[in-house]
Amino acid sequence: MQSGAIVRGRDDSKSTGTEGILDHVDKCMIVKMFCHTTIQHELLETSIQGPSELYPEYVHIWSLSGNDTVEGRKVIGREVLSELRRILGVKTSLWGTLVGVRPTKLTHKLWDSLGDIDRVRQELESTHSISHVKWKLLEQVAVLERPYVAHVQQSPKEISLYSGIPFCETHCTYCSFPYGLIQNYGRVQDFVDVYHRDIEHMKRLVKTHGLEVQSLYMGGGTPTSLGDGDFHHIVHALGTVIPKGREFTVEAGRPDSLNANKVQSIVDAGVTRISLNPQTMQDELLRIIGRGHSVAEFLSMYDYVARHTDCSINMDFIAGLPHQTVKNMVENVRYIEQLRPHNVTIHTLALKKGSPLYGSRFANEIPSEAVVQTMLDETHEALLQLGYIPYYMYRQQYMVGQMENIGYTLPNYESIYNIQIIEERQSILSIGPGSVSKWIGGSDFRQQKQYMPKDVDTYIQDIQRLLEKRTLLSNEHWRDS
Ligand code: SF4
Repeated sequence: MQSGAIVRGRDDSKSTGTEGILDHVDKCMIVKMFCHTTIQHELLETSIQGPSELYPEYVHIWSLSGNDTVEGRKVIGREVLSELRRILGVKTSLWGTLVGVRPTKLTHKLWDSLGDIDRVRQELESTHSISHVKWKLLEQVAVLERPYVAHVQQSPKEISLYSGIPFCETHCTYCSFPYGLIQNYGRVQDFVDVYHRDIEHMKRLVKTHGLEVQSLYMGGGTPTSLGDGDFHHIVHALGTVIPKGREFTVEAGRPDSLNANKVQSIVDAGVTRISLNPQTMQDELLRIIGRGHSVAEFLSMYDYVARHTDCSINMDFIAGLPHQTVKNMVENVRYIEQLRPHNVTIHTLALKKGSPLYGSRFANEIPSEAVVQTMLDETHEALLQLGYIPYYMYRQQYMVGQMENIGYTLPNYESIYNIQIIEERQSILSIGPGSVSKWIGGSDFRQQKQYMPKDVDTYIQDIQRLLEKRTLLSNEHWRDS
């Protein structure tokens, strides 16, 4: 049996000196959580005498306990969360006590063990107090994902690939991406040469181990920030790693980084899906968030891509941008209705510490949680009405409120990569600085990871060692198969 206690005091000047304390200072209130400590033990033992005599500065003592098992610790964690929310006056979340970024991953895990989606609902409602509305979302996504997730177990040699280009042309204010602007980087040619080595190495790994590449996602940064020639050669090299016709996405991200030459390269390389991300469709808001394009330029590029390629198109939007209103989001949905992209992703703004927005005067102009919730609710309903289906979702730290990012699809256009990256059951190997390869195996989907350095110079300098390590980890992972 293990236990913990939450103790609420009147001032923050006194310290117990106890190890394992979590402090949350809110105005003049201090909340201390004791776990596995002698003091906690004393508190419980002396509770008959009235702990406030021993610790007079504290006005609230609450004890909890659970078995000394993984499940017992989870029980304590959930109770602590509920109690902290109560004493801090934080309103109950529609997600109940589910705090992880991948609630669908847990849903699939429970589905595996309980064998039936209705029992998963009962479990999440009774144990995690999840609301009906969030359960409906989880259920819809999990049911659509299930065939992909289930298939992975029978195909350990089926993988997906990620290729990250660590540059952009301008810096969006809400983004904390750690890389640089391509025009400021003096060694682009060295980078491109090393990147080709990285791709060639990946190609050899795929061949050596007899792997099946199910999907490939070229993201960033902004891959299309590369010059026409470099982009052409890299996208073509990637096209030789994945069989023709498989899902091959290029994130064009910023429509201003795309042109007719790059669109032609995309077509020639066998790309099947392209992401054009306006984020919102009002010029004034685009200016505030540092996008380098106007609404008219976005529409023109969308039209060009739709007419010159057979690619599925995804559009990304963000709810909760500075000065954004519910009316703006309604307008965004009208554009979706008009353009009918195959996929739509609705993100909720996450105010990240490394972003220019954090600490700027515009941070004060972020709409309230209630307004953002209305934006998301109305957009969700409208997209369902337009025939879109939620097909993957995740939550994020620092997100406004307790909301989530949701990918929607027209029927049969779901992006397999997006499902596999969130559900973490399929090995995904990665190319480029800042990318992460994950070898996933076993009945519990254990992960072995390799992180590529974020710093481009280090990536260039260490490439030999990094590729050797990738060979080693791949040999270990697939050695018996
Ligand atoms: S284009 Fe994407 S990666 Fe680049 S700064 Fe904007 S949001 Fe960040």
